[in-house]
Amino acid sequence: MNATILIIEDEASIRTVARAYLEQAGFRVLLALSGPEGVEMARHERPDLVILDLNLPGMDGMEVAARLRQESDVFIIILTARSEESDRVAGLRIGADDYVIKPFSPRELVARVEAILRRRRSATLVVAPTLHFAHVQIDPDRREVTVGDQVIDLTTTEFDVLLALARRHGRVLSREQILDLVWGNDFYGTDRVVDVYVGQVRRKLEAAAGVPLIQTVRGVGYKFIDPAV
Ligand code: CA
Repeated sequence: MNATILIIEDEASIRTVARAYLEQAGFRVLLALSGPEGVEMARHERPDLVILDLNLPGMDGMEVAARLRQESDVFIIILTARSEESDRVAGLRIGADDYVIKPFSPRELVARVEAILRRRRSATLVVAPTLHFAHVQIDPDRREVTVGDQVIDLTTTEFDVLLALARRHGRVLSREQILDLVWGNDFYGTDRVVDVYVGQVRRKLEAAAGVPLIQTVRGVGYKFIDPAV
């Protein structure tokens, strides 16, 4: 596994430890000490995954994540000392794929990185037919979603959430089921993460389609309700 990991972190001790463990696991590791440097490096080196500290001098980590997201679909793991759930949710809302709270075990960080990259690999190996619904078309191979002739811009994780729901359209999926299908057993997060992602997918799809497509089933979970054609 020779994926490239970019660590954006101003604290030397964390950089050093994270790099040592990731290199030992076989990854190529790049280091950036500030937000602007990280954005620049991501642009030129095209890493597979970015580990991003939220507390950075110069440019806040949230801002860095937003800029990375504008330019690519790179996986992002947020490092945060903030234990407030609202901060984690805000991080996920701007497009991070996972978060790790400091102080963290370097082994856990490596496990998270491997889990996310595994997700991508299994997604690219699947050859699957396009799903056609009344309003939405989903092409799992090209990872493309369209409403009419409008392509909907979804992040990797948003796409996976939509695909999980759409493949079981008309049936209710619980938050736990969605967590399992999208994040797998390696995820340590809460159900709240599912709400955030479903909310984003729903907003983007329904803005284009003009009709409700994902139904909240109170106390249970979510249901994709666009009829298959
Ligand atoms: Ca920091």
